[in-house]
Amino acid sequence: MKKFTKITSSIGPKSESKETLARMVAAGVNVCRLNFSHDTGDVQGQKIDYIREISAETGTPVAVLVDMQGPKHRIGVFETEDRFPLTPGQKFVFDSDPTPGNSSRVQLPDMDVIHSLKPGDRILLNDGKIEMQVETVNSDSIEAKVIRGTEIWSRRGFNLPDTEVATSVLTAKDRNDLEYALTKNPDFVAISFVQKPEDVIETREFIAARTSHPVKIIAKIERPQAVEKIEEIIEQADGIMIARGDLAVEVPFEKVPAISRRIVRLCREHNKPVIMATQMLGSMVDSDFPTRAEISDIATAAYLHVDATMTSEETTISANPAFVVETMAKILRNADEDSIENGQDWSDAEELPENDWALSVTLMAELNKAAAIVVFASSTNAATWISCRRPDVPVYAVAKETVVANQLCLSRGVFPVCDAKMFDERDAVAVAKHFGLESGIIVVVDGEKISLHKLG
Ligand code: PGA
Ligand code: MN
Repeated sequence: MKKFTKITSSIGPKSESKETLARMVAAGVNVCRLNFSHDTGDVQGQKIDYIREISAETGTPVAVLVDMQGPKHRIGVFETEDRFPLTPGQKFVFDSDPTPGNSSRVQLPDMDVIHSLKPGDRILLNDGKIEMQVETVNSDSIEAKVIRGTEIWSRRGFNLPDTEVATSVLTAKDRNDLEYALTKNPDFVAISFVQKPEDVIETREFIAARTSHPVKIIAKIERPQAVEKIEEIIEQADGIMIARGDLAVEVPFEKVPAISRRIVRLCREHNKPVIMATQMLGSMVDSDFPTRAEISDIATAAYLHVDATMTSEETTISANPAFVVETMAKILRNADEDSIENGQDWSDAEELPENDWALSVTLMAELNKAAAIVVFASSTNAATWISCRRPDVPVYAVAKETVVANQLCLSRGVFPVCDAKMFDERDAVAVAKHFGLESGIIVVVDGEKISLHKLG
């Protein structure tokens, strides 16, 4: 049984050698995520070169996703490396003064943040462990009251759940990083802390001004402002990442499962792939056995019919990233198999549009007990649309262009191959054979033409 749910793996210090990358791809990685919050420039470029080499050497399409840090805010440094005490009820000031901080004040380097805040807005620091409330906004400082939290120290993350920050989704650092990344022709660019559909449009314009390579944009959903405008953001983006790390800080964490389920459903309706991200196998950073809750989380994502799950630190800083991928692949394979055999699709399939050609293809495959759907993919469209109907049979997609095959690596149940000769010959039987299918019925999608073929 094939794994239908795709794996996106973050690549870092413990996974950036060519040998480890090759083992991870063999274990089931479909998309490699290069996080520009950590490395930039040629360090990331080298990883991209290795991934491309492995792909070419093994004939396995693998997508490269470059993830921009985005406007992630951090406070400045303190007088010492120590933790400074805080008392609920006390005042705390954020200002523009680079002098090291203490128990009553610290610098906030991004001044545009200061101008977006209003009295009453919450400030969350250190992954939500500290909560403050804005009392007064001055021209170059904010006075806040500590609501929760007992200590604060240098460079803590700074989340503003109540505030739409008046800043571009691409910071100066992001523009620099993206400029470089685009020279390496990535398949996907992920943008962080998206607040509105215009953020995606702005990124698309930035990319279009620099390359004609058909890069796809993944909007990371991690702010309540994005959740509010989720449909318009999905319409503008080419895919979505449910970035549960920051999302669970910025919205009440108990809301994250319902928000996730809604995003998965909306992505399917809009024919866009969706990645479930963060802490899926977090315990494996220093353990070789997943927690029971992680096993269940990964399987639940597969039952929910996400396109892809994701690994984070567990494949960047753990001792054995390929083993982590094997673990995730094993859980996904079992859930996918169960889901296919017992029809456990928890998404709201009845809400799918009527007279939908991709749904017709899927139903045709089901009614004829087909073994596969074969798509001649001149672009990602047809295979992605069919994938979003979540057929119970694999979609074998033949592409002429590498980028099309790579981008289809993110779509659930799509098995892409890049082969110009096979694409030009239009021989669906040969395509089925390439994927090891010798007998049975296949549904063939070739442009507007949909047909049935009997193999053998
Ligand atoms: P990050 O995004 O790792 O870039 O913060 C993922 C998340 O917030 O969940
Ligand atoms: Mn994040």
